[in-house]
Amino acid sequence: MDASIMNGKDLSSGAVSAVRCIANPVKLARLVMEKTPHCLLTDRGAAEFAAAMGVPAVPGEQLVTERNRKHLEKEQHKKDAKKPHQEKNLGTVGAVAVDSKGDVACATSTGGTMNKMVGRVGDTPCIGSGGYADNDIGAISATGHGESILKVNLARLTLFHVQQGKTLEEAADISLGYMKSKVKGLGGVILVNKAGDWAVKWTSESMPWAAAQDGKLHSGIDLHKTSITDLP
Ligand code: ASP
Repeated sequence: MDASIMNGKDLSSGAVSAVRCIANPVKLARLVMEKTPHCLLTDRGAAEFAAAMGVPAVPGEQLVTERNRKHLEKEQHKKDAKKPHQEKNLGTVGAVAVDSKGDVACATSTGGTMNKMVGRVGDTPCIGSGGYADNDIGAISATGHGESILKVNLARLTLFHVQQGKTLEEAADISLGYMKSKVKGLGGVILVNKAGDWAVKWTSESMPWAAAQDGKLHSGIDLHKTSITDLP
């Protein structure tokens, strides 16, 4: 699994890649942010750090669902190289938040099917690609084809457009459109700013998402289908 976290107040960030048998890799990324002078720990170093921090190891099979196992098998048999680069988002979880003080933060983790290749690291633990947070602009988490996201620095690129005066929605459309036309990559982003505005956009087939604001829960999976309910 790979994971990253970033605090928009001071741009502090932490990330881990190639970790195994950890139930909450974002928590480990947070420990990297808070307890080390580093931004990213990987593989054996990340595992040793987790053990030193007292993070319990969980047997690997407990972290793999039947649904993901089946999905992986299906992906391994796919040979359609001409299709745009996309990924059914079964393994990546992203979150962005703004608190009452206007501090923003993001976190992203993945153990998805794209990590099936040993040694491959995607965008998720790379600050600026899988996520970014800066109180002056906003916070964003990205999902989708990691190699494409890395090539365009999707998270920071989207916030760049916000910095240039675009709305969150416009910025997300521009950067996802750029990624699609430039490298044929599909993906999705969620973002917030310190004013509490938020946006959810994707070019992939679908993206399960939810947003909580002012007692309401907004959620959806497919384009143009959003449901709004009262928060319990
Ligand atoms: N972006 C992730 C990766 O490439 C995968 C995903 O978001 O589904 O590792």
